[in-house]
Amino acid sequence: MSWKWHERGNFTYLTIPKWSAEGIDLGFSTRVGGVSHVPYDSFNLGLHVGDDPTAVLQNREHWLDQWGVPLSKVAVGEQVHGTNVLWINEEDGGRGSRELETAIPATDGLVTQSSVGLMAFFADCVPLFFYYPDLKAVGIAHAGWKGTAHKIGQKVLECFEEAGGRTEDAWVAIGPSIGPCCYSVDERVAVQFRANYHETPFLHRQEDGHYLLDLWEANKTLFLGKGVRLENIEVASVCTADNPEWFFSYRRDGARSGRMAGWIRRVVSS
Ligand SMILES: [Zn+2]
Repeated sequence: MSWKWHERGNFTYLTIPKWSAEGIDLGFSTRVGGVSHVPYDSFNLGLHVGDDPTAVLQNREHWLDQWGVPLSKVAVGEQVHGTNVLWINEEDGGRGSRELETAIPATDGLVTQSSVGLMAFFADCVPLFFYYPDLKAVGIAHAGWKGTAHKIGQKVLECFEEAGGRTEDAWVAIGPSIGPCCYSVDERVAVQFRANYHETPFLHRQEDGHYLLDLWEANKTLFLGKGVRLENIEVASVCTADNPEWFFSYRRDGARSGRMAGWIRRVVSS
């Protein structure tokens, strides 16, 4: 398996050794090892879910200590289930990392060639990670069903292509999220996918008229369709709803639940 569980001190997170070897720090946190109380126990990294901000900041600092990066060198977008993607520069470091107000407004996808780390937050939505070796650029996107239906993953690839990047050389990773085992959706959701995709083999119709939606497969299909090579797509295939000891889950726990962080940064040697 390309994704690996990793323990460092009292932290457990997932990473991809192949990306680390390339000088790309990539991580997806678990709920373990933090200071937040029920129902955000304990390693909640989301400021927007009603948790004590002091606890969240302490958790964020602990998380970033693992990567040797201060809050002032991290950029965070305001996640609105949209498809906006934005280039981040050195001067964006610190935006949204300490408070919600300074986050990059209404932007679910971030890309950068700078040394600024990109962080986004997830309970069941799909974390997408990107690396273009030719551009020395990385990216992250927040893709729930809306983002996936409206193809934010494809928008990120197009952003890199506009900068001259070759998608056939791109690396892409799909992190832990709610899986096809647990993600039952209704016709209202299915119709949005049918409107945007030629085929929807990732929607599995159930006897009750609902569908099991495979967001991993939908995003993978998008990437393959844009020319990303199969061997460069790393799917974690880990379900957040099925693993309450490791992950928060909006579907399982409701609105008052914590958030894991997706993290990516190009390690720039000076
Ligand atoms: Zn599941």
